[in-house]
Amino acid sequence: MLPQELIRAKRDGKTLRGEDIAAFAAGIGDGTISEGQIAAFAMAVFFNGMSRDECVALTCSMRDSGMVMDWQSAGIDKPVLDKHSTGGVGDNVSLMLGPMVAAAGGAVPMISGRGLGHTGGTLDKFEAIPGYQAIPDQDTFVRVVKEVGCAIIGQTAALAPADQRFYATRDVTATVESVPLITASILSKKLAEGLDGLVMDVKCGNGAFAAEEKFARELATSLVEVASGAGVHTSAILTDMNEPLASAAGNAVEMVNAVRFLTGEYRDPRLEYITIQLVAQMLVAGGLVQGHSAGVNKAQEVLQNGAAAEVFAHMVGALGGPVDFVENLDKYLPAAPVIMPVPAPIAGRVWGMDARGVGLAVIGLGGGRTRADQKIDHAVGFTDLVGVGADVEAGAPLAMIHARSEDAANEAILALQKTYTFGEAADHFVPQPMIIARIEGKNT
Ligand code: URA
Repeated sequence: MLPQELIRAKRDGKTLRGEDIAAFAAGIGDGTISEGQIAAFAMAVFFNGMSRDECVALTCSMRDSGMVMDWQSAGIDKPVLDKHSTGGVGDNVSLMLGPMVAAAGGAVPMISGRGLGHTGGTLDKFEAIPGYQAIPDQDTFVRVVKEVGCAIIGQTAALAPADQRFYATRDVTATVESVPLITASILSKKLAEGLDGLVMDVKCGNGAFAAEEKFARELATSLVEVASGAGVHTSAILTDMNEPLASAAGNAVEMVNAVRFLTGEYRDPRLEYITIQLVAQMLVAGGLVQGHSAGVNKAQEVLQNGAAAEVFAHMVGALGGPVDFVENLDKYLPAAPVIMPVPAPIAGRVWGMDARGVGLAVIGLGGGRTRADQKIDHAVGFTDLVGVGADVEAGAPLAMIHARSEDAANEAILALQKTYTFGEAADHFVPQPMIIARIEGKNT
């Protein structure tokens, strides 16, 4: 079908055939479809949606526009598993989860991204480690997954090139916020990793891309059904993002938080709960345990016996970082010259937080980007963030700021204070559930 006829059909609300979608997606990847045609198609889908079958066809065709990893040929006989988060603030789950799943017998070839908008990026956190090769060559990637069980790296141009072109056009034509297009975009990249199982962490709340629960549920259901339709065992959990997940937000500071988690020195309770839940789901998806509670036990075991910390240390060394990184964090991670407390403006119970505001304050400190090509300051951010439900005295620290200068710290103090709302300590406070919903795929 001619591209303009396919666009016309979608514009008029018709259902497209898989082979026509495949030809169109191939044309996006090889450049034979013009930017104008991509934009018109995206807008037609934005208004008229896609059936599940259409979305599976679009996802698989975009996945196939580049290389699809084949782990069996590379000699890996373990279940190949990954997790994707739609992005949050203080969400460093991947840093622990990849090594935990590898320690429990899975292979985790995790291709992660940089910070997007106010949300942090796993890749930026790893780039705080001196020498860490975030974008290694293909042979190194495969070797590290084989030897260590886990490699957390950045996206290469070889995977799902159609999505890179499609997303760039959507970004400038007001067509990002379409459930089928987001689904195909996220999954085309994940499925190119050649996965057996995938777990989606769809964040919901004021610090999430999907702020409204209705939208988050719709997206999670679409992701699970389309990935399952493409033959990958997939499930999703909808998790609360109305406050940062860890007590740290930034890059090096979240790395420290993650290593302390793995070694058992300190674990933020909310972060621990969500990480263990996601690991358990991945182990179930990979057939490595029988049922969710066995997965929870296994996740706890690889933390307690130090196996996950060992995998993490091994991975950092294998990807060019210091081999003694875990033992000597302070020696290797950049530290901010100014570290100051953020005083609570009044006494009371923390009633709520604007997690997005916390993410924006990290960007204000230089720890995130306002332009895609910007360099970031890995040292800056917040630690010791007081969470929702805590009682504080006036002037007691709400967090510690790590800043490049006193001026930057003073600005960030005001920005962070504004993200907190307080009630009377005696107010009846009802904690919100951390897991809002679980969505299982047909084949999970
Ligand atoms: N993240 C992606 O990778 N794609 C989208 O369309 C939206 C968020």
